[in-house]
Amino acid sequence: MRYQSTRGRAPELGFDDVLLAGLADDGGLYVPSTWPTFSAAEWADGARLDYAALAARVIAPYVRGSVIERDIAAITRQAFASFSHKAIAPLVQLDTNLWLLELFHGPTLAFKDYALQLVGLLFDRVLKARGSRITVVGATSGDTGSAAIEACKDRDAVDIFIMHPAGRVSDVQRRQMTTVQSANVHNIAIAGTFDDCQNLVKEMFADERMRTELNLSAVNSINWARIMGQVVYYAWAALRLGAPQRQVAFSVPTGNFGNVFAGYVAKQMGLPIVKFVVGSNRNDILTRYFETRSMTATAVAPSLSPSMDIQISSNFERLLFDAYGRDGKAVSGMMDRFKQSGQYAVDAKVHERILAMFSGARLDDEGTKKVIGEIHTATGQIVDPHTAVGIHAARGVQLAPGTPMIAMATAHPAKFPDAVHAAIGLRPALPAHMAGLFDKTERFTQLPNDLDQVKRFVRERARRI
Ligand SMILES: *Cc1c(COP(=O)(O)O)cnc(C)c1O
Repeated sequence: MRYQSTRGRAPELGFDDVLLAGLADDGGLYVPSTWPTFSAAEWADGARLDYAALAARVIAPYVRGSVIERDIAAITRQAFASFSHKAIAPLVQLDTNLWLLELFHGPTLAFKDYALQLVGLLFDRVLKARGSRITVVGATSGDTGSAAIEACKDRDAVDIFIMHPAGRVSDVQRRQMTTVQSANVHNIAIAGTFDDCQNLVKEMFADERMRTELNLSAVNSINWARIMGQVVYYAWAALRLGAPQRQVAFSVPTGNFGNVFAGYVAKQMGLPIVKFVVGSNRNDILTRYFETRSMTATAVAPSLSPSMDIQISSNFERLLFDAYGRDGKAVSGMMDRFKQSGQYAVDAKVHERILAMFSGARLDDEGTKKVIGEIHTATGQIVDPHTAVGIHAARGVQLAPGTPMIAMATAHPAKFPDAVHAAIGLRPALPAHMAGLFDKTERFTQLPNDLDQVKRFVRERARRI
């Protein structure tokens, strides 16, 4: 499989190079040059596979030509071996046609483990085959960081630097990152927002010398391998609920548009997904886009769902690229406008195509607490604040009668005990394997939102070949 950049000016690469590069040279994001598809019969056959085997099947076309092509079944087997639920991603029924897809049974209790456990192994295999090493730099609004650290810790060929916005992630989220004592793990608390952290990452990637000197690599969902790993659970859930014979819909609490973009990929691969509903908190740039056709960034405001406190949904660029008929020049122009003015408008016809598949809904903190309370009263289930935003979005759409709506449970409620307590007066307990988190020693460095200081910190600590 070959991959092309959404901005049309970077060289086409194979999977291994895309995995290690993260961002393309021209500032764009890599996408496969065509979407592989499976027939209805092939999908139906996939329904008899367990999660790891289905993962190998879904991923196979994307890693064709890679050094790991022949090992993919063993790699997916290993990636999900440590998950705490036998089904890996179980479905729970909330209402006649409303299902919860629990994506919090990995080591750090959020959906990001589902792709990152795989990406950590892929890094290891590809780097060993090449005899090289990488420096991972990443920004986190809370959950990416710990999932990436768990995936990369103690790997010989990887150093990992994760920036989080100081004081804007929950105590559980911070401790999951800062209590990992591995020598190759570096946590940085930036005095700023998540978008500031993400910009620092982008600026480091834009520094050609630094990028080649340290072999910079990304684990944010700008890395194609993340999206690829996330396609699997869309297929898994759809097949469990009757696809390919029956249509399904998904609701997804969204920040960077990475998770829901993976759903779009699953649809391109031939699954009958009729709708994606995107939920946002008060940081509602996507919902406003769906209403107005204009992507307009405003200041980020903290909310009860911090992993969605984002105003730049990077992966939307991948959708635009497809929606504009893979016109890299058009996408590049829009992204330049966005960088300069914080705004761009989508062509009316293109917008219509997007609205045929996607819709959005927002929910403020009061509403989020209310939904957590309602779900708890009605079903006994405790959902986390991100999941509650998605459930709210799911309730707002009309589907053909009998169509299952699958709401993504993106995090375990114990990651956000304060928000859950404010909603229902209960503090969900951490699973047994995470008990003791609050007794461990934390280790992190505080830095200002200053590119030069961050670069110096990384340069001084990253190991060279
Ligand atoms: C990262 C995250 C999100 C947002 O996912 P995107 O891929 O950025 O859209 C939603 N919920 C939780 C719990 C997360 O960790």
